[in-house]
Amino acid sequence: MDSDLRTCRACKKPIRWILTAKGKAMPCDPDAIRFNPGVGKEIFVATDGRVLRGQRCNFGQLEGFVSHFATCPEADMFRKSSMKKTQGSKEE
Ligand SMILES: [Zn+2]
Repeated sequence: MDSDLRTCRACKKPIRWILTAKGKAMPCDPDAIRFNPGVGKEIFVATDGRVLRGQRCNFGQLEGFVSHFATCPEADMFRKSSMKKTQGSKEE
C-alpha cells in the first residue's frame, strides 16, 4: 500500500509510517530490511509490530523497518524542535 508513503519534513526522503504493536505509528524508511535483534543501537519495527533494538544484517533473523529517526540526516531538527523553549534570555 503505497498510500502509506510520506515525505520526511526534514530531509524530504520518503518515509513509511509503521504501526507498532502498541498502536503507535512510527516513521520508518520505506524499504523492509532484515536485522538481528538484541545487538546494535538502531530502532526497528518488526513486521509483527514489535519495536526492537538491533543491527541491520542481510541475513538477519527478523524482517522489519528501521526507524527513520535513526537514519534521518536531519534528525537533530526533531530534537531541536522538541527542545525549543519560549524562554529567552532577559536583558535588564
Ligand atoms: Zn528525514
